[in-house]
Parts: sequence; C-alpha cells; structure tokens
Amino acid sequence: MAAMNPPTTALGWAHTAACTGLESSIFYPATEDEADTAKAVCAQCPVQLDCLEHAIERREHNGVWGGATEKERQRIIRRRRRERAMAKAAAS
Ligand code: SF4
Repeated sequence: MAAMNPPTTALGWAHTAACTGLESSIFYPATEDEADTAKAVCAQCPVQLDCLEHAIERREHNGVWGGATEKERQRIIRRRRRERAMAKAAAS
C-alpha cells in the first residue's frame, strides 16, 4: 500500500486537526480492534464532527475519520437512511 498521510492533511478545515504531524499508520489500523489509539486522538480533536461528516459524504473506505472506523461509518449511514425513511413515511 502507498504511504498515506493522516486522513485530513489535505483538507483546509483541518488545520487544527489533532492528527496533524502524527504517524499516519495510527489512522489506518489493520483491524477494527486496533483503532483505539486513533479514536483516542480523534476524541480530543476540535474538528471531529467536520471530519466525520466529510468521510461520510465522501464514502471514505479506509481509515479512522472523526473517531469512526469504516464499519462504524457504515452503521451511521444505514441509521440515517432508516431515520429518513421513517420520517418520510410519517409525513405521508
Ligand atoms: S477527527 Fe481524527 S482523523 Fe479527523 S481530523 Fe481529528 S484527529 Fe484527524
């Protein structure tokens, strides 16, 4: 795999990101169970919500973004879909 930067290095809103300057491999763990170190950094990050929404909008498939792994982001996307469907059904 090519070398990667921490997830948000190229994003303008991320100039205050807590991951700036950290080892990128922290944010690309081999398994979901190895994501705790990245999540701990994200938990202290002032742009955590921006980062999470960016990753969800872009359907990022790799890495921990906004404190969430890919599987966790998929769960968020599915939950939001269900909520939208329920709201649509309730409105009709
Ligand atoms: S939430 Fe995590 S990955 Fe996103 S900018 Fe902050 S520290 Fe980096």
